[in-house]
Amino acid sequence: MRQATVYIDQEALQYNLNRVKQLAPTAKIVSMVKANAYGHGVEACLAALSSTDAFGVACLEEALEIRELGYEQPITLIEGIFSGDEMQIVIEKKIECVVHHQQQLDWLRAHKDAYIAQGLKVWVKLNSGMNRLGFKVPEIIDVIHQLKAEGFTCVLAMHFANADADNHPLNEQQKNQFLHVKEACAPIMGSCCNSAAILKWPELNFDFVRPGIMLYGATPFADKSVEELDLKPVMTFTAEVIALNTIQAGEAVGYGSTFVADKDMYLAIVSIGYGDGYPRAFPKQNYVAINGQQTRVIGRVAMDMIAIDVTGIDAPLGTEVELWGKERLVDDVAEANGTIGYELLCRMSARPVRKLA
Ligand SMILES: *Cc1c(COP(=O)(O)O)cnc(C)c1O
Repeated sequence: MRQATVYIDQEALQYNLNRVKQLAPTAKIVSMVKANAYGHGVEACLAALSSTDAFGVACLEEALEIRELGYEQPITLIEGIFSGDEMQIVIEKKIECVVHHQQQLDWLRAHKDAYIAQGLKVWVKLNSGMNRLGFKVPEIIDVIHQLKAEGFTCVLAMHFANADADNHPLNEQQKNQFLHVKEACAPIMGSCCNSAAILKWPELNFDFVRPGIMLYGATPFADKSVEELDLKPVMTFTAEVIALNTIQAGEAVGYGSTFVADKDMYLAIVSIGYGDGYPRAFPKQNYVAINGQQTRVIGRVAMDMIAIDVTGIDAPLGTEVELWGKERLVDDVAEANGTIGYELLCRMSARPVRKLA
């Protein structure tokens, strides 16, 4: 059988969740499990995250999957509902909505009594400068005052555009707007921290924090590694050596013959490619790890195979090669690929076999 495997380390996930608890001891934790738990597979991740206070997802289908698996914690739809007919299901399955525009308010009000009777909170989204979703100041203050007067329990919600960047001027502006609205609508619960903000601004934890990437043991920062943040990678992505070749100086490897050996080399062919979710375009040299030793990926990534340099490395047929995991960090593969760990994790294909570590 072709070996291309995604191992999920549930203990690492629990370790990272505990890191969030240490960093935000007084806040409730809304574990973000959108996009199939950032590509890790929602079922294995929910089992490891069962002590979380709540879950966050991007759509009703993702929320229903959590309910079908039997989890009863609150769930927040971070973009709210996309059509009025979803409100019925939201209420029946006890799912909480973000509201970020007038139509969502109308849908909510049409089901006001049932929504409140189910004990569901309304997450009112502030647009403080990211300019994707939300009500701006001062409109949001009226929206919240009205919702509260109608009997809704509200959470003021906001998302930073640059929480991963030091000294971006928008950070201060977004913080100030959030604090202003929170004060103008007091008393009200608040939530504005993703992973980067949890790690940087403990004073902004408020009532609910919303960790995503840090739970999975990847870094939200370009300049801080998971080791520095004391997080453990949850996913290990591996494949196997399926062929070994000796090539001579001047010979080329793979599609496009983009790599030409400048000396005699020993190559291993590994059963992984972009058909598995391994990226193809590498502006920088990329590496894999074999028994803790990093070695170069050679030539183009194909749909099902890559070539790696095993000159001087003991890697017989069947050797397990780590594409990313605890030795070769997904963050470093992402950097070589010109992207972020989030993207590589989320775009895993369904082909690799998934196992618990
Ligand atoms: C995805 C998401 C998060 C989590 O962000 P990370 O950077 O992965 O921690 C938090 N809040 C909202 C609204 C999100 O959409």
